[in-house]
Amino acid sequence: MRYISTRGEAAARDFVGALLAGLAEDGGLFVPESWPHFSPADWRALRGLPYAELAARLIAPFVGDSIPFATLQALCHAAWTDFDHPAVVPLVQLETGLWVQELFHGPTLAFKDLALQLLGALFEHVLAARGERITIVGATSGDTGAAAIAACRGKPHLSVAILHPYGRISEVQRRQMTTVVAENVLNIAIEGSFDDCQDLVKALFNDRAFRIEMRLAAVNSINWARIAAQIPYYVASALALGAPDREVAFAVPTGNFGNVFAAYAARRLGLPIARLLVASNQNDILARFLARNDMSIRPSVQTLAPAMDIQISSNFERLLFELVERNGKATAQIVAEFRKSGRMPVPDYAWHRARLIFHGFRLDDTAILAEIRRVHARAGYLADPHTAIGIAAAEAAPVGHGVPMIALATAHPAKFPDAINQATGTRPPLPARFGDLYEKKEDYVILPNDLAAVQAAIRAKFLGNAA
Ligand SMILES: *Cc1c(COP(=O)(O)O)cnc(C)c1O
Repeated sequence: MRYISTRGEAAARDFVGALLAGLAEDGGLFVPESWPHFSPADWRALRGLPYAELAARLIAPFVGDSIPFATLQALCHAAWTDFDHPAVVPLVQLETGLWVQELFHGPTLAFKDLALQLLGALFEHVLAARGERITIVGATSGDTGAAAIAACRGKPHLSVAILHPYGRISEVQRRQMTTVVAENVLNIAIEGSFDDCQDLVKALFNDRAFRIEMRLAAVNSINWARIAAQIPYYVASALALGAPDREVAFAVPTGNFGNVFAAYAARRLGLPIARLLVASNQNDILARFLARNDMSIRPSVQTLAPAMDIQISSNFERLLFELVERNGKATAQIVAEFRKSGRMPVPDYAWHRARLIFHGFRLDDTAILAEIRRVHARAGYLADPHTAIGIAAAEAAPVGHGVPMIALATAHPAKFPDAINQATGTRPPLPARFGDLYEKKEDYVILPNDLAAVQAAIRAKFLGNAA
């Protein structure tokens, strides 16, 4: 399998090439040259497999001959052993026709662990074989960073530097990152928003000399391998609820569009997904796009669901590329105009296509609290603020009867105890294995929104000199 850039100007790579590169040289994102296809018989053959085995078989066509299948299988079987549920991604039924799929049983209690535990293992495998080291850099609105650090700690061929917006993530989220004190881990708090952090990471990659000097690699959701690693849980729940003989629908709490793009990828593989609900908080650019083709940036607002406080959903470019019939030039022009004017000129035909599959939804903070309270009262279920938006989207969805609706639970409620307490009067405790999180020492640096300062900090930590 080869990977091409959404902007059409970069050389194609194999899976490992796309894994190591992260972003393509033309600034685009890697996508598979063609979509693999699973027939109904292929789907049926996957029913009932343990999660790791299911994942290996689904990821295999994307890996191609880049990594032998037996190796991929072994990496998958090792990747999710730190999860505290034997099914890895269990389903919980809330009501007739409505399920929650819990993606938060991993080491940092958010769905990012599912992809990043595998990514860390893939990177370590590839680099150990080559005798090379890399520096992973990433921006986090809360959960990616912790999951990336958890996936890299103790891996001899990886260093990791994570940028988070100073004061804009929850204390649990910060502590999950900053209490990992290790030689190969650097936490940077940026005086700015998540979008500023994301722009800094892009700028680090665009500085060719720095990129080569530090051997930069990305683990935020622009990395194709992460999308690939997020496909299996959609398949697991769809098969459990009757696919391929019955359609299903998903409600996906969305920020960077990575998770919901993995659902789109599952659909392209042939999984019968009737609808994808793109659930947003007040940062509702995607909901406005889907409702009236208004993809225009507004100032980002802090909400109770901070992992979704995003205006520029970097993975949307992957969908755009598909919507404009994989025309890299057109994609590049539309994205450039978006960066320049803050408004994305998506052609009407492409917007109509998106609406055949995707449906937008938004919920403000007051309604998030009301939804957490409602779900708790009605089903005895504690949903974190992100999950609550997904459940509300599922409840409001224009999907036919008989189509099972699966709302993704993207974070454990204990990651957002204040919101849950405000809504329900209950403070969900952290699982016992996190008992000492509040006693541990933290280690991070606070920097201005300035590229040179970030580069100096990374050099100082991993090369041992402040350049
Ligand atoms: C990252 C995250 C999201 C958003 O996922 P994207 O792939 O960025 O769209 C939603 N909820 C939680 C809890 C997250 O950590």
